[in-house]
Amino acid sequence: MFVNNLNRFTSSFAANFKFYKNISEQYTDHTILDSVNQLVPEKFLKSSLDHQSLPPLLHWFKNDLMKWMPKELQCSSCHRRMRVQIKEGDSKIFRKTEVHSCDKCDSSIIFPRYVKILKIAEVKIGRCSEWSILFGAILNSLSVQTRIVHDFLDHCWNESLINKKWIHLDSTLNYPISFNHPYYYEQNWGKEYEYVFAFSTNSIEDVTRYYTEKWQMIKNRRVNEDKANILKKFYSRV
Ligand SMILES: [Zn+2]
Repeated sequence: MFVNNLNRFTSSFAANFKFYKNISEQYTDHTILDSVNQLVPEKFLKSSLDHQSLPPLLHWFKNDLMKWMPKELQCSSCHRRMRVQIKEGDSKIFRKTEVHSCDKCDSSIIFPRYVKILKIAEVKIGRCSEWSILFGAILNSLSVQTRIVHDFLDHCWNESLINKKWIHLDSTLNYPISFNHPYYYEQNWGKEYEYVFAFSTNSIEDVTRYYTEKWQMIKNRRVNEDKANILKKFYSRV
């Protein structure tokens, strides 16, 4: 019984873990990093990135490079809300595909959720996952060690190693909240975390405590404190 419950528990994380492991592996691939580096304007290539130079880079990424894909679209000719269907995809190229279609005129918009960073760099559109995946790759290409963070609710962002400390960075938000505002989601979006994990190629780190001012409540929410350790072991095997 315990084993079955454990399997169910870990398998609910499996697809997610595989995905972030794949992204973390791409962050160490120099061909990929060299390629995304080509997107970066020259002014950001000259100096080393720090607390001063990161805000303009965040601004460029959000306002000049990327487009946001809304969850719901309106048909451009009929102005009706489009219907959304999710199709599971080939896990090597895209996780899934969203098909937005208009019931009246039959037009449709297809939005593939790519796994490959170079595909995201090509289309430059997405939501928090595409944005944080590409922004993380760009920072790694600028020699700022950066990882992906996921809250297992509905959001993900980055952390970069700056002055030997992992600092919160969220390219989807406006500066200054995009930089070193770890309590923002809890304070403004009412997040009730159980786990927030930061991903590397070989390991995950439970970073929940960095994002909460309600640590005792989260500890109470976690029925079994061993879960984090079970998940850490599980990640090394996915
Ligand atoms: Zn239409």
